[in-house]
Amino acid sequence: MSTRFRGQTVREGVLLRGPAGWGEFSPFPEYGPRECARWLACAREAAFEGWPEPVRDSVPVNATVPAVGPERAHAIVTASGCATAKVKVAEPGQTLDDDLARVEAVRDALGPSGKLRVDANGAWDVDEAVRRLKLLDRFELEYAEQPCATLDELAAVRRACDVPVAADESIRRAEDPLRVRAAEAADIAVVKVQPLGGVRAALRVVEACGLPAVVSSAVETSVGLAAGLALAAALPSLPYACGLGTLALLTGDVVDDPLVPVDGRLAVRRPPVDPARLAECTIDSPAWLRRMQEAAQ
Ligand SMILES: [Mg+2]
Repeated sequence: MSTRFRGQTVREGVLLRGPAGWGEFSPFPEYGPRECARWLACAREAAFEGWPEPVRDSVPVNATVPAVGPERAHAIVTASGCATAKVKVAEPGQTLDDDLARVEAVRDALGPSGKLRVDANGAWDVDEAVRRLKLLDRFELEYAEQPCATLDELAAVRRACDVPVAADESIRRAEDPLRVRAAEAADIAVVKVQPLGGVRAALRVVEACGLPAVVSSAVETSVGLAAGLALAAALPSLPYACGLGTLALLTGDVVDDPLVPVDGRLAVRRPPVDPARLAECTIDSPAWLRRMQEAAQ
């Protein structure tokens, strides 16, 4: 990985090849067999079934701004070509002034028509979230991703503040979007195709939950990203830019023509795996074979 993410510096997974193409099984290390079963279902769908027909031929994606200083934040957004930026806030060890300066710089880089969302990764309590979002909303927030950790807290923030709330960490399993909806905890659902069990399963979950969806990645290779892209391409409506522009977080890929955004959009496609690139990052790992077998069981 080019940047540490979830405490990880190396991203591992299994690529499956079937009659329909390649699929990616890359659950994070802490996930057990039960949770991994859905990730495996996603890889199997890609390899053996393929995906539903797309209803659009490209998908807008957001730039992602980590907890950097304002100059760097401005440069990241300008270089991205994206009309939407997601800004990390509530970083441990940083202050509200740090967040305000970063968000102001991003608004300046986007211009008045750009969309600006913040992501607190569940760090705030309700009072803190309401107070800080009101201040940050001076720069016109599209929404706030996971301002607090629990559904009850998210619901309280929604009631107390005009900034729309998106649930991300609250949605990790297929039944979670329905819980989010029942608790009236969010206006938007951030969905990832591997934890929800594949493109078709995710489409059913989004439909049942009734909230607009933002498709995000689990930091996959272009093989795994193609599944997220297939979901974003098949959703009946897609009012928000998606978090699928994450390939740059990896230092390598397994395809010649990676799924990287051009002018802030990803063309809907499925680039073929290149055998030489695949060989370069292949390791012999009995542990992964065992993980896959346990997930299958
Ligand atoms: Mg998030």
